[in-house]
Amino acid sequence: MEKLTIAFAKGRILEEAVPLFEKAGIPVTPLKNPGRQLIFDQDKFRFMIIRAADVPVFVKYGAADLGVVGKDTLLENDFNLFELLDLKIGVCRISVATISGRRIDRERILRIATKYPNITKNYFAGRGKQVEIIKLYGSMELAPVAGLADAIVDLVSTGRTLRENGLEEVEIIEPYISSYLVANRNLFYVRNELIAEVVRRLRSVLED
Ligand code: AMP
Repeated sequence: MEKLTIAFAKGRILEEAVPLFEKAGIPVTPLKNPGRQLIFDQDKFRFMIIRAADVPVFVKYGAADLGVVGKDTLLENDFNLFELLDLKIGVCRISVATISGRRIDRERILRIATKYPNITKNYFAGRGKQVEIIKLYGSMELAPVAGLADAIVDLVSTGRTLRENGLEEVEIIEPYISSYLVANRNLFYVRNELIAEVVRRLRSVLED
């Protein structure tokens, strides 16, 4: 039988997903110390480690049956996937932050640096505010300090990263972000038996 392929977003989500999947009896132990290896075959499963933004793409095109990815990534681009389960890991929020003590000037067009241009655009548009968005791929915190942008839109968990870079949270866009188990809409039906088993096992750990 073809293996059930699960794509994990690398980094914090993968780290938190491994103990959860292990508890559910899904053999993800090799993902603890993956080294440079990105693909792991373990009995009925194939696991892949992928950059978060690419996980929904692999699932959408059927290169993975299931994915584990943050709601932030799912909100940024709608890939029309099934969201099967809130895994309650990778919990954080999406916020606007700027240099501590700085008042964001509301009269002029703000420049916002972010890796979430759609979430940012929709949020400010919903408040009748025009913004100029600068897309970045990392180290967002540098943008206000370096004078690249007035503010940033980024994930905040403990708030430590902002504090250590002289920034403060000024508005919360999404107060609860967590990671989801997502499925390709067609493969969900084709591989339903094994997918249902994965969901059942994870759900029983989450409800414990
Ligand atoms: P913190 O310092 O705990 O507020 O974490 C903020 C830093 O971690 C920022 O660089 C965020 O982009 C990143 N971050 C926070 N939560 C997550 C998450 N759930 N997934 C991935 N990155 C995150």
